[in-house]
Parts: sequence; structure tokens; C-alpha cells
Amino acid sequence: MNQRQDGKIRCDACPVMCYIAEGNSGACDRYANHGGQIVRLDPLTILDRRLAAGDSVKPFLGANWDGGLGQEDEVFVTAIGAGTTYPDYKPAPFIVSREIEGVDFVTVVTEAIFSYCGVKVKIDTDRHLGKEGAVVRSSGEAVGLVITSEYGSQMLSLGGVDHLTGGSKGEGRETCDALMRLCNKEAVELSIDGGATVIVQAGQPPIVDGVREERMRVGCGSATIGMFASQWQGLVDEVVVVDDHITGVVSEHQAGKVIDWQETGIRIKGRRSTPGRYFQVAEPGLGWGGTDIEDPLTILGDWNAAKGARPGLTLLMVSTTGEQFGYYCLDDDLVPQPAPLPETLQATVDLITENCEPALCTVLFMGGAGGSLRAGATRNPVKLTRSVQKKHTAVSCGGVPAYVWPGGGITIMVDVLNLPDNAFGYVPTPAIVAPLEFTVRREDYHDLGGYDDAVRSITKAIEDGSEYGVNSRVVGPGPNTFLTRDDKEI
Ligand code: SF4
Repeated sequence: MNQRQDGKIRCDACPVMCYIAEGNSGACDRYANHGGQIVRLDPLTILDRRLAAGDSVKPFLGANWDGGLGQEDEVFVTAIGAGTTYPDYKPAPFIVSREIEGVDFVTVVTEAIFSYCGVKVKIDTDRHLGKEGAVVRSSGEAVGLVITSEYGSQMLSLGGVDHLTGGSKGEGRETCDALMRLCNKEAVELSIDGGATVIVQAGQPPIVDGVREERMRVGCGSATIGMFASQWQGLVDEVVVVDDHITGVVSEHQAGKVIDWQETGIRIKGRRSTPGRYFQVAEPGLGWGGTDIEDPLTILGDWNAAKGARPGLTLLMVSTTGEQFGYYCLDDDLVPQPAPLPETLQATVDLITENCEPALCTVLFMGGAGGSLRAGATRNPVKLTRSVQKKHTAVSCGGVPAYVWPGGGITIMVDVLNLPDNAFGYVPTPAIVAPLEFTVRREDYHDLGGYDDAVRSITKAIEDGSEYGVNSRVVGPGPNTFLTRDDKEI
């Protein structure tokens, strides 16, 4: 922090190095000049197991702290509001000791600036959002791409250093803004080149081209046949489950064969994979089962009387969510004619719907924590990496244990829904700021070259704060933090 003649002081908590006048905040709105001191505006967030999830004790100043935290294993100091190690020559703002079941642990707490980061977004829908590899945009700027779809879900990969730093200023700014809002559980509208517009919000149903998705499909068309074949038997002569990936036909499917389902002479226009399983019956789209069709009969060819087709034969066509269905009866010319769905079959369609889970968006933050910030935890950064890789050091974000990718570096992933609200910030470099905690046994911390002199008790840390102030708050932990998970902490 440097003083200037005009009364402004310099914040050095990120490479932007804002000069900030008294009473103002810097470019990221996270630090301010308060009485000639750079302070962190959001309070340090402490999780306390004794508060219900979401409950919060209002911010207080460390100087007023009455030491009422009680047992150390009931509380966890997160990095939300902690300040940063940047420019990484100094110990992290909080290095706190905790005793858990008689064992001394140290938690190194810092807000990390991530240029190498992004989000993986899982959108529970069969509706076609865009081709694999298609560009995803926010406010017209490219922020990511469509990646390999998963079972019942479309996937997006957003952010990353190429979008943050490798494109235009606007692209970097918009990418950073979209990432931060998604990580903070806000709704973000994304448009996909050649595809749909989708509103994504962690924990909420996706809204695809203005339509809120209600259900995640029960399975692919083939799986749906397998699940319900025996329930249809005796009620209808043929069932086709329309699906963009694998359309199923019960009379030909192995599930039908084993229960002696009779041939019907049906013909499907798609590419036959194996008996009763067809690929590419239509183009992908927003219609039946993630295809572009509105009339399911368009996927049928002529019926073959030599193989069982006959006047009066009944047919159920249904999508993988049960949202769309149609019942037909072959006329004298073997042409399917629509007919009212019998009540008994309605029950089977309802069962498909009942077996669908609610459609949701999931946002996983992913970032590389193997850079210079390690120097805020240890004087020998590679030892921290090795300790994490050996699982001697646990990594968490806002108190939520992170998944650490195998291989080199410390590449982490965490479900943003588990973190307290507004845990993520940004700096205009542009980069995302995420809370990061390393928890390790005290003796291991010493061995990996930790800052033993900087270790403080939780009470002392809250009383004295950091160079960025003493403002803190206590909140109840969510369901997946160190304090609430059933498994052992490390
Ligand atoms: S952008 Fe924020 S963190 Fe960076 S120097 Fe300015 S006030 Fe400090």
C-alpha cells in the first residue's frame, strides 16, 4: 500500500494496483480506502456448525469479538472476505490453527486470483441447445463452447484463459462477468451459435428459448423400453419411444423379445443400430425427445403386413419425458390414425413422467490453484502441491471440500451451490477471485515449509483480523462443508 500526494493510496491486492481516494472503493468494489487504510469490504466469513444452514450473525468487528466461538471443531474460517496473498511474497492473510478430535490442524486461508479458471455447466434437458463445439455467447461475446453431452444433460464449458485474456477486451470482460454471476448463483442468458438461447442459474431449471424445462428424461429411448416393456404388454400392440439419440421400438427390442412381444411390421426411418434401437430418426431440435419433430409419425415408414401389420393394430408413441405422446390405430390401409389414449396407457405415460427427475442447471467452478499463491502457504511451493496430491492437505472453497484433479498442479472443482452466497469476486485484469483454504496437520504444515510464525488461533485471528481489516460474520454451513459432511475431514 503506497501513499500518494493527493491523498489517494494504492491497493496492491491484485495487479491492477488501483489508487483509491478516501471513502472510495477500487475497480473491483472489493477493497476501499477507509481512513487511509486499504480494507476488504466484504466481511471474513466464518462457518459455525451451531447455526442452521443459511442463518447468519451480522457482521461485527474483530475488536468487539467476545471469543464466543466455543469449540474449534465447530467453526471453520473460510477465505470469503479474507483478502489475498497477492503479490504472493507474504503469508496468507489468515493461517489459523484448529484442534479436531485432539489433533492440531492448520488452515491457510486466502482469496485466490484465478486467470486459469472457468465453469462446467450441466443442463438437464434433451432439447438441442447447439452442436458439440458450437460457440456459447454472453451479451454477444464468445465465452465458451458446447461440449460432449451427458446422459440426459447438455454440457457447456465456459471461461478459461483463452476467453479471459486471449481475445478482445470485451470478450475478457464479458467472460469474467458471466463466470462471476454463474458462480454467485445468478441467472445468466447464454446464446449458442446455430442453436438455442438458454437462461442458466445454478440449482434452477434451465429456460430454453423462453420455455422452462420441467423434467430430465427418464433415460434414452432404449432404456425407457427396457424399464417399461412389461408394463405395456397386453395394453398396446407396439410402443415407440422417440429420442434424438436412441429411439426404441418394443417389438424389436431385446426387452420385448424376452417377454414374447409379437412382431408388428413397423418400419423406422432412422439408422438401425441393434434390434429395436435406432439412431438419427430426425434432426436434433426442441421437439419430441430432443428431435426437431412435432409429428412423430414422420419417423415411420410403411407398415409390413407380411411381418405382422394388420388393421386395428394399436401403437403408442411417447417421448423420453412423457411430455409428448400419441396413440394410434392402423386403418384398413395400414395407416396409423390418431385415437384417444386409453386410461390404462395414460398410467404408463404418467409413470415415465414420474420417473423423470426435475431438470436443473449445475455449475461447477474449476480453477488451477497451482500458481504463485502457493507461496502464501509455504516457502517451498512444490511441497504444497505434493502434499495436496498425496491427500495430506485438503483443499476447500468457502469451506466446501474441492475435488482435486489427479496429475500435476492443483486443479480443483467445486459445486458453487454449496458455497455461501456471493463467495466469488473478480478483478479487472480480468480474473475471477475465489475463496481457497488449505487444511493440513500442524506437523505436516511445518514440514512443508509453512509459516509457523504466522499461525494464529481462530479467536486471535478474528480479534486481530488481517492487514485488510477486522470485519467478519458468522453463517450456518451448507450441506456439504467440512463441518457438515459425514466423512472424515482429511
Ligand atoms: S481491482 Fe480491486 S483488488 Fe485490484 S487493485 Fe483495484 S481495488 Fe485492489
